[in-house]
Amino acid sequence: MAHSDILAAALLTDADLKGGTLEVHSPIDGALVGSVPTHSAGDVEAMIATAKAAFDAWKLVPGPRRGELIRLFGEELRAAKDELGALVTLECGKILQEGLGEVQEMIDICDLAVGQSRQLFGLTIASERPGHSMRETWHPLGVTGVITAFNFPVAPFAWNFALAIVCGDPVIWKPSEKTPLSAIATARIFAKAIERFGDAPEGLLQVAIGGGEIGEVLTTSKDVPLISATGSTRMGRIVGPKVAERFGKTVLELGGNNAMIVAPSADLENAVRAIVFSAVGTCGQRCTSLRRLIVHADVRDELVERLKGVYAKLPIGDPLAKGTLVGPLIDADALSGMEKALDQARAEGGTVTGGGKAQGVAGGHYVHPAIVEMPGQTDIVRHETFAPILYVMTYTTLDEAIALQNDVPQGLSSCIFSTDVRETETFLSAAGSDCGIANVNIGPSGAEIGGAFGGEKETGGGRESGSDAWKAYMRRQTNTVNYSRALPLAQGIKFEI
Ligand code: NAD
Repeated sequence: MAHSDILAAALLTDADLKGGTLEVHSPIDGALVGSVPTHSAGDVEAMIATAKAAFDAWKLVPGPRRGELIRLFGEELRAAKDELGALVTLECGKILQEGLGEVQEMIDICDLAVGQSRQLFGLTIASERPGHSMRETWHPLGVTGVITAFNFPVAPFAWNFALAIVCGDPVIWKPSEKTPLSAIATARIFAKAIERFGDAPEGLLQVAIGGGEIGEVLTTSKDVPLISATGSTRMGRIVGPKVAERFGKTVLELGGNNAMIVAPSADLENAVRAIVFSAVGTCGQRCTSLRRLIVHADVRDELVERLKGVYAKLPIGDPLAKGTLVGPLIDADALSGMEKALDQARAEGGTVTGGGKAQGVAGGHYVHPAIVEMPGQTDIVRHETFAPILYVMTYTTLDEAIALQNDVPQGLSSCIFSTDVRETETFLSAAGSDCGIANVNIGPSGAEIGGAFGGEKETGGGRESGSDAWKAYMRRQTNTVNYSRALPLAQGIKFEI
């Protein structure tokens, strides 16, 4: 498929693609696909004012009616799935199946949010005072700033957006400067839903194009009570304190360093499939990519041999082509990051298989995913390198394996392959994984939207998507109502006047 056909099918016009200063190159072949106009700090301030006005109207619209807008958005996404999926692939280089999967995740969260729009409920609580009732209510919070990373150009946006809209909050979206086109196309698709909806206020979704400095206008504005930011821990270290300084709220979804423990009882066939999908999918550029394999000594040699066999035959190349499983890295910086990490791993005693440059489409940065057998969990293993590098370590006791799994600064995703219920339940217990996500007999990546997504420690502590993640987009209010004729005070305090 030609790049121009993908851009046109995704509703992008010449005005979107020409005359700007932000150059967008496809990682597939390095070709310039557009130079997008960027926004200024003043533009973003105007967006915040528009969103504030939209909030005043939208917060009064009943939740189920707000849900109707997201239902329509989900319909429009279904109609545009192929086109938007191909654009995601063109812009960030993940294989087409994964591009389509990302749009499917958007559709799924829309479905979830539509149901949620009728379930924005709180609790009734027993009052200690006679003739009193207590309850908890949830109200729209305000303008929500959503900052997203290049590797998932659209799905994490949708996790936030679908819930924020049903909760009553307008959104200003600052996509990665590496993937602005997927954001512009998504806004076009949402505009179709708005048109069908009829009476929505202007400014429920605005897209702010630019780099970190544009994100900073959002993070420092007191008119943006919630910032949901997905990206590196480096970014989170800047964004978190900036928002905290003004007592704003954050949902931080930052870096991961995800592990799999493979026990002697594991189904190795399934383990191999799960390892390869999670370690080389999106060319190792998922926050949940498998980066550390902690294998029992009894099965280590067999597992590593099987993995090397699969790795040697991985189809690497054009992510739009059928059959490709590994597309390109995002850019030259990512390639040099991978090369440096492999050099450091060698210096720390690692043995590297694969990892060199691969034949791909000219102009793109294609690599052979690497398997690196390490003598222990050295510095480089504890660092998130955003590339397909799988470090292999060996263990003999489960306690040792869990200690290795937890001994990294990040806490996003983890898993164990074992058919021994004592081991699997220990891994999921308080004595087990310290991550936000802990799986049994599936890999660490490819979460469903029904659960809360996010991680602990340097991953930031935020939760998005399913479960009760919607509460982040609302403010909680405790109500006590006295329907008696007296005025008793709590805790039995006597205060007679
Ligand atoms: P990045 O941190 O370079 O950029 C992420 C976003 O933050 C971009 O939109 C960027 O413009 C913005 N940004 C940067 N500095 C900012 C600042 N000072 N103020 C406001 N915004 C700022 O990350 P990336 O390279 O695009 O993505 C890769 C990283 O994202 C990896 O570490 C990966 O693990 C992480 N990630 C995490 C999750 C998750 O859910 N935990 C999901 C996807 C990616």
